[in-house]
Amino acid sequence: MSRRLSTTPALSAAQRSRLQRDLLDWFRANPRDLAWRRTGDPYRIWVSEVMLQQTQIATVIPYYERFLARFPTARALAAATDHALLKVWQGLGYYRRAMHLREAARVIVREHGGRVPDDPEAFAALPGVGRYTCGAVQSIAFGRRMAALDGNAIRVISRWLGLTKCVDETATKAALWQAAESLVPAEGDGPPRPATAGASPLRIGFNDPGDWNQAIMEFGALLCQPRSPRCSECPVQRDCGANRRGLQGRIPVRRKRKAIPHIEVGAGIVWRRGRILLCKRKADAMLGGLWEFPGGKRNAGETIQNCIRRELKEECDLGVRVGEHLIDVTHTYTHLRVTLRCYHCQAGPGQVKKIGCDDARWVLPHKIPAFPLPAADVRILQALGAAQER
Ligand code: SF4
Repeated sequence: MSRRLSTTPALSAAQRSRLQRDLLDWFRANPRDLAWRRTGDPYRIWVSEVMLQQTQIATVIPYYERFLARFPTARALAAATDHALLKVWQGLGYYRRAMHLREAARVIVREHGGRVPDDPEAFAALPGVGRYTCGAVQSIAFGRRMAALDGNAIRVISRWLGLTKCVDETATKAALWQAAESLVPAEGDGPPRPATAGASPLRIGFNDPGDWNQAIMEFGALLCQPRSPRCSECPVQRDCGANRRGLQGRIPVRRKRKAIPHIEVGAGIVWRRGRILLCKRKADAMLGGLWEFPGGKRNAGETIQNCIRRELKEECDLGVRVGEHLIDVTHTYTHLRVTLRCYHCQAGPGQVKKIGCDDARWVLPHKIPAFPLPAADVRILQALGAAQER
């Protein structure tokens, strides 16, 4: 007698092949025209995949164009300075992605002749390349039969499966990867290509695995949306376990998020002879490599003015006189909410020492926009400009 080894639901071979056909037909009939779909260059495809992690398509588009105008090849990226790289990335967030991209580009130049490796093992060994990025780039650029399981694909596949287990559990994730891999069609297994493949500027219809991974993500973004999936328009409704059981609104099941902590930070606009002090955050810190108005977290029971004085002493060995309040700025990161309370300060005598930062400079106010700054500091800079115009 056979025993069930897993309680994770599975799709039958007939369902898998119908899903492949129906979803690829849907996607190929009307793909969105996105810049990274107009290229077969693996480097460009890779840049887009990195930018799209945790970031909306509409946000990525202008960054993608600017980044590739500045760094059109892996060689150009490998030669980028921190300053140039972070300035182009400024505002896109998750800055470590940019640093990893450059590190990986340097390995590509050193070890792969400047070309993105057409080899999953070599590509996965590059800095910052995880399982998702590897599957996405290797399938889209090289037609390899590899899965790419992002948030959209997790939602879509768990609905097809009718999966009522928490998708944040390691075992469930492993089962989803397995399901995702079994769904990717081998090259030639997809439905007949549309006649437009090759005529359209979009590189859709060139390989089945790459089209499949894009199709599933597109489908998740446009139809099988998180809150209100558009089931009545769905091309794969008959193979959807969640729809069959009326569970679309409850799948995927996610772990309850903990409330994120909220901290207060004192930040100084520290003036000396018409210039303002900017400090470069330590490379291994959050927002590493970006420049900021110096300061730090307020301790319990400490006034914000004392916090700024203490932080300037600890970070730069600089005494300051705290003056007028400029602005409070609240910014939310994935794991943290920060309120920056920002005050004008007058620097005391003495050299600035780089104790808690990688660099420190006195900068004329009109030259500050040339520095890569965190989003919160951009808002402080805007407030400073507005205050000076008054
Ligand atoms: S039927 Fe609804 S829930 Fe199921 S795959 Fe289609 S859009 Fe998603």
